[in-house]
Amino acid sequence: MIVLKFGGSSVADAACMRQVAELAREALPQAPLVVLSAMGKTTNGLFAAAKAAETGDLAGAMEQQRLLMAAHRKAASELFDEAVPEALDGTLTELFGELELLLRGVALLRELSPRSMDAIASLGERLSTRIFAAFVGGAWVDARTVMRTDNVFGEAAPQQQAIRILADQHLGPLIHVDRIVVTQGYIGATEEGYTTTLGRGGSDYSAALFGAVLGAREVQIWTDVEGVLTCDPRVVPEALPISELSFAEAAELAAFGAKVLHPATIQPAVEAHIPVTVRHTQKPRGRFTTISSEVNTGRPITALASRGPITVLTVSSTRMLAQSGFLARLFEVFGRRGVSVDLVATAEVSVSLTVEADVPLRPLIQELASFAKVEVHEGRAIIAAVGERLKSTPGIAAQLLSALGDINVEMISQGGNEINLSIVVQVEHTHEALRRLHRVLVAGIR
Ligand code: ADP
Ligand code: ASP
Ligand code: MG
Repeated sequence: MIVLKFGGSSVADAACMRQVAELAREALPQAPLVVLSAMGKTTNGLFAAAKAAETGDLAGAMEQQRLLMAAHRKAASELFDEAVPEALDGTLTELFGELELLLRGVALLRELSPRSMDAIASLGERLSTRIFAAFVGGAWVDARTVMRTDNVFGEAAPQQQAIRILADQHLGPLIHVDRIVVTQGYIGATEEGYTTTLGRGGSDYSAALFGAVLGAREVQIWTDVEGVLTCDPRVVPEALPISELSFAEAAELAAFGAKVLHPATIQPAVEAHIPVTVRHTQKPRGRFTTISSEVNTGRPITALASRGPITVLTVSSTRMLAQSGFLARLFEVFGRRGVSVDLVATAEVSVSLTVEADVPLRPLIQELASFAKVEVHEGRAIIAAVGERLKSTPGIAAQLLSALGDINVEMISQGGNEINLSIVVQVEHTHEALRRLHRVLVAGIR
């Protein structure tokens, strides 16, 4: 079998859905499982509706609901030339009724728990897949019967063992040559049956998990670019598609902000040795990226990615602790508080590290104050240069620094796997830094 995942822009309206249907039909001999995102910006709309309801603005929430309903009904009616099948029409009415009830509940209580938010957010994928499955005459599967997760609502962790068993029961038996099976990305459920989501952009992760547990031949991520490019094309328009990317490179790029893939996507596919391809829905015969385990690209730097704003903490020991004791104590505090650290650079008496901008700093710093002095620098960004041959290319750090010219580098760190060289700059310099680095280190070398 094969997994085809289509992102929001690929299913944004009736015309896009027709194109997706064509690609799904072409895949019929390969027993396709089609994993869909919500249509276009639906998930953003659902978040906006929920937030409006939370503030008690029921009228605002209902207006959002009405806009979403109009967009979905329009797509359905165009796909079916005005003759929407009764069953689909009824399902849409039911789902929008559910959304309205949820929004009214939130507005009444003025309380939006992560669990309620997930129930609301799940409607995007449930709607898009219903419309699409009806259009292609495919089998529709509720991903919540298979995608078992923990109960961290909003960012739930899939439980792969359970998913494997559930997929064998509810999904595997449906998958067949000449049949299109359609399910949702992004959503799952706890053992108790509460709806969860895997975090924004989580449909890629769903696709990789389904592919892994079902033993797919390939997981295809269909989107609006010709694969993974050498940099975010919105920042560097001359960025080029990368034809082959190693799993390690893809994982680094995703973790350091390349939005084209969800950060966790790669893991289940790597472990199951399944190639992942990234393709352009509107240019299916165009270029694409293949991500697989053994790739020797021959380039020192394959691609650039960035993430910001982030915060840099510079922590110095106030006691005469041996450095090893200091580091152990320091990281114990971060670990216990569940604060994840991205980059670390150590000096004899101090350590600089980066954390997400939204980490609650005050309690962390209070605790560190018993043995260390902490300086906080907000409004920074990480730029990561990623490449399998980085480690064996001498002088690359010097080239990188010289390419940046007068842009100040506040921290530099080479990842433990030696395929990632990261720097920290002021967040407002991010785009210019990416353009300069791309010109000299990526485009220049090709
Ligand atoms: P989808 O809705 O299909 O999941 P996303 O918007 O999540 O699509 O991801 C595709 C977008 O990722 C592209 O339109 C592009 O703007 C952005 N992007 C960021 N970095 C890269 C990169 N290195 N290569 C390709 N696309 C990238
Ligand atoms: N629809 C969800 C989002 O917008 C998941 C996804 O598209 O991957 O985040
Ligand atoms: Mg995405």
